This record gives sequence, C-alpha cells and structure tokens, in this order.
Amino acid sequence: MTSQPRAGHEPAFRPLPLSDTATDLIAREKAFGANNYDPLPVVLARGEGSWLTDVDGRRYLDLMSAYSAVSFGHAHPRILGALVAQAQQLGVTSRAYHNAALPRLFERLAGLTGLDRVLPANGGAEAVETALKAARKWGHKVKGIPEGRAEIIGCDGNFHGRSIAVIGLSTEPQYRDGFGPFPAGLSTIPYGDSEALERAITPRTAAFLVEPIQGEGGIIVPPPGYLARCAEICRRHRVLLICDEIQTGLGRCGRFLASEHDGVRPDAVILGKALGGGLLPVSALVGTDDLMQVFHPGDHGSTFGGNPLAAAVAIAALDVLEDEKLVERSAELGAWLLDELSDLRSHIVRDVRGRGLFVGIEVDPRYVGARPVVDRLLARGILSKDTHGTVVRIAPPLNIRREDLAWAVARIRATFRELERDLKRAA
Ligand SMILES: *Cc1c(COP(=O)(O)O)cnc(C)c1O
Repeated sequence: MTSQPRAGHEPAFRPLPLSDTATDLIAREKAFGANNYDPLPVVLARGEGSWLTDVDGRRYLDLMSAYSAVSFGHAHPRILGALVAQAQQLGVTSRAYHNAALPRLFERLAGLTGLDRVLPANGGAEAVETALKAARKWGHKVKGIPEGRAEIIGCDGNFHGRSIAVIGLSTEPQYRDGFGPFPAGLSTIPYGDSEALERAITPRTAAFLVEPIQGEGGIIVPPPGYLARCAEICRRHRVLLICDEIQTGLGRCGRFLASEHDGVRPDAVILGKALGGGLLPVSALVGTDDLMQVFHPGDHGSTFGGNPLAAAVAIAALDVLEDEKLVERSAELGAWLLDELSDLRSHIVRDVRGRGLFVGIEVDPRYVGARPVVDRLLARGILSKDTHGTVVRIAPPLNIRREDLAWAVARIRATFRELERDLKRAA
C-alpha cells in the first residue's frame, strides 16, 4: 500500500526553507521539536578537546562539558579510536549472549569502586531506576521489610533524572507538575543534615539515596564529614547508602568518586555521563554482593545495556582517566580555579564553591540572574550554564589546558566587571 494524504487532510509535515544558517536551524528546531529545552542561541557543529565551533565558524571554550558527559573533551582520539574499532568488530548483541568487551568493563568498575558487581544501563535515570529497584528488592528479600512496604529516602533539592519514579523523589515543583501520580514509599529530608536522616529512618527504610555534591541543585557542597556520618547512621540502622555519582564521579570532584573525600564506601554507586567518554550514553549501578544478590536471570534488563560498543568506549574512557592522571589533574586545577574565582571581588557574586573541576558561582539575584551572566560569557566565547536561576556552573573537561582555563578566568573576571559597570550606569 502506498501512503497518500487522506482527502480533506493537510499533510502534517510542512518543511521550512532549506538553509543551514544558525537562525534557520534554530527556527526548525523550535518548529518541529518538543519545547522541553531552552538552549543558548548557539548552533554547535564541531568539537575537539575543550573547544567547540558553531555553524558560522565561531569558536567557544567548553566550561560545561555536557553536564560532565564530556569530561575527557570532545572527540578524544583514544576514545574515538575505541569507538570506531569496536563498531567495525561488533556493535550490539543484547545480553542474550556474552560479548568480549563487557566482562572487562565489569572487572574494571568493580576494581575502581571497591565494590563487587555491576549492572550496566544506558542513561543516568535508567541506572537510578535500577538502584531503586535493587534497594526495594533488597529491603523486602534481605532486610525483611514486609512486601510492598519498602521506603527510600532522598534529599531536598536532589536531581536523579526524569523518569516517573525518579521525579517522584524530586522536590522541584516544575519537574513534577502534571506528571503524577508517583510511586509510594519515597520521601526527602534536608540535604547536608545527617540528624534529619537519623530521624527519618524507620524499620521500613531500605535505602538512602544521595549525591555527594548536588549538581543540578546548584553545586551544593555539604558540610565536611556529612557523608561519613550518613554512612555510619545507615550502617547502624541497616539501611543501604546509595551514592548517585553520575555527575560527581569519574574524577569530576578531584577523586575517582566524590564519596572518597569522606572515606566512605557506599553499598552502591551509580555512574553515568562521563562513563560514555563523551560519545555514547553508558551508565551502571555498581554494588556490594549483599545488594546485587537480589538479581536473578529475568528480574531486570535492558536491550542496549552493556552492549559491546558501549563497553569498549567506557573502558577507553577509564583508560584515559587513569593514563592522563585526570583525577589528580581535576584536584589540582580545580583548587587553582576555585582560588581564582573566589577572588572575583564583585558584590554581584554571593558565593563561589565546589570541589575539583566542579564549581558554581552564585550571583546575588537582587542584582542579576545567572542566565544574563551565561549570555555575556557566551558573547565572549565561553560556554557555561545557569542552574537554579542564581548559579553559573563551571565544569570544564578534566583535560582542559591550563592556559585555556586561565583565558576563561580572565574573561569571567571581565564579564563581572562589565556587569558591575552596567549596573552602576543603570542606577
Ligand atoms: C544527569 C544526572 C542524572 C540523570 O542522568 P540522565 O543521563 O540525564 O538520565 C542523574 N543523577 C545525577 C546526579 C545527574 O547529574
């Protein structure tokens, strides 16, 4: 059968005039895309290392790294090489069969985290869902919580992704609005307050899910020792400590896992973003034997999770992290960056905080929001991103050249000077 527009119906698709100018591309995206993002007005066409080029040939320094998915820079030759080589060998098999790349990734992740077993997935939210399922099942089958009564505690201001269960744990009204009803058994407590955790735990609590540093929440660094105290409380009450390290892990905060800063070994960590080497979505739940024993063949799965292409790219990403000493580099360059930015001396800046190359500049909303700062940085050739209205996030690739970062710091300074001047003029 040939498909023809039915009589009386206009064909739904009306192409826009073909042109690849930035304006036309943005118009086409607005016309045919769901409107769930509000991107900065730049159309990127190429990336190499820490630099991106738009369709008009303008260059930008990437201080955002796709929310840490591009922690090793764009088109890293070694990761790209692994992608191409593996794609030529074998791309996707499903887990109905073994493949040669996945066991190596499992062993590597277990070794790096000090945990026992790995369950691979694709996006971050999917790995968080996997963690929630694992925690509930552990609660019911191992801890002995009556079936269907397991509870999971999260934190106010959390970000764990966008699935229905995960936004059921969110405290951000916009992320939830219109998407309910949500699953039962999810609650939140103030972030950074270990006593609140102690109070919230009941005999039905299976797990505490926490970000070592809240990223989307505005680069919120909890008080020193917070995670260690949470780990102690969880141990005492036989509650799983699950760290969402999708953004903070893989060197972003100056340790392989941000939870290492507190000397904590969680019962499970969730990895994603940078694990895909900036090329593919790759995520994983890594946990203790005690937790991961809940999974039996057929309990849970994913068609693409753990495919050879993803596994080979993830292994190459971990190789780059190790061989280029990017954990140490993040710690060292991050300390320098925090020092430089703490010295901005602008009354517009309320706080500068972070760990490793994960830094937030909080502006004072009485004077300016974060988005106008981000727009001005864009005009000066710097890609950053506002979060929560008042925080400018600075999270460059971990292998950014020191002189490039220094170049950016000078431009950030100039941007705040310019803002101060404009505010004075307007007053
Ligand atoms: C980005 C992020 C997620 C969600 O990952 P997706 O790949 O977007 O689903 C979950 N948790 C944290 C901490 C994140 O930063």
